[in-house]
Amino acid sequence: MIAIAIHGGAGTLPRQELTREVWATYRAGLEEALNAGYAVLERGASSLDAIERSVRILEDDPLWNAGRGAVFTEDGRNELDAAIMQGATLQAGAVAGLSHVRNPVSLARLVMERSPHVLLAGVGAEDFAIEQGVELTPRSWFHTERRWDQWLRARTGDQRAGQNVNYFGTVGAVAVDSHGNVAAATSTGGMTGKRWGRIGDSPLIGAGTYAANAGCAVSATGHGEYLIRATVAREVSALMEYRGLSVAAAAREVVQVRLKGLGGEGGLIAVDRAGNLALEFNSEGMFRAARAANGRHLVACYAEEEA
Ligand code: ASP
Repeated sequence: MIAIAIHGGAGTLPRQELTREVWATYRAGLEEALNAGYAVLERGASSLDAIERSVRILEDDPLWNAGRGAVFTEDGRNELDAAIMQGATLQAGAVAGLSHVRNPVSLARLVMERSPHVLLAGVGAEDFAIEQGVELTPRSWFHTERRWDQWLRARTGDQRAGQNVNYFGTVGAVAVDSHGNVAAATSTGGMTGKRWGRIGDSPLIGAGTYAANAGCAVSATGHGEYLIRATVAREVSALMEYRGLSVAAAAREVVQVRLKGLGGEGGLIAVDRAGNLALEFNSEGMFRAARAANGRHLVACYAEEEA
């Protein structure tokens, strides 16, 4: 059964700020990316194509902390990370610290398909992009007023502004195609005010992104330092592979027990070969959407909306 899920970050946006109008905008953004990815699956194309399609749309939408809407580093720049993985072969590609690549998820796919490596960072990753014929984008592409304003507020010590943007807007997608192959992708601008070339969980295979047909495909979001230490993405798949847990039980265990036990706030989306989905988070909300061939279709932010 084909199925896809996407997320737009685990967050702590205060409920009073998510007005009906604001939610309508976010909702439309999620629906567009979800349906585009689902249409790829419906055509019989691969889960890899489907998740790349969804994530590219989210990267181009300034609403999310990925691609165009990436948050700013401490010194006022944008540094983007992304990863992609396919469950049939365990092949993976990832990029970190990009400043001139419009769609990091697609560069991650090129790393997987056309390089002997898994993870490329910084200038070297952008050299590889040029070699592959990827057009570099001026830094100004990533300069959105909203993120700049959040950066300014965070700098002047507005804690609330810092909190809102820190955990907000990373994007990801997981899918299973008609051949029963799963795939996962994650793309992010990281955390606002990050320093010293900080890299989060998103481009780290096993931490923020993972896919294995024997288990499941996972894309995580939240406070990266905790997600890395809890190796959340691999952990969900491993609980299925070694302990025979369902994807829902494995996701719950990792997010509500292991991650929470470390003090980490976040969530993840996951799908297995049979099309079973899990959308689990321990933060107040997680922008998320899912669609499966059995008719399941949801778009939500807070917990109660799924009920
Ligand atoms: N996990 C991302 C990071 O730490 C941030 C997020 O998911 O919002 O870079």
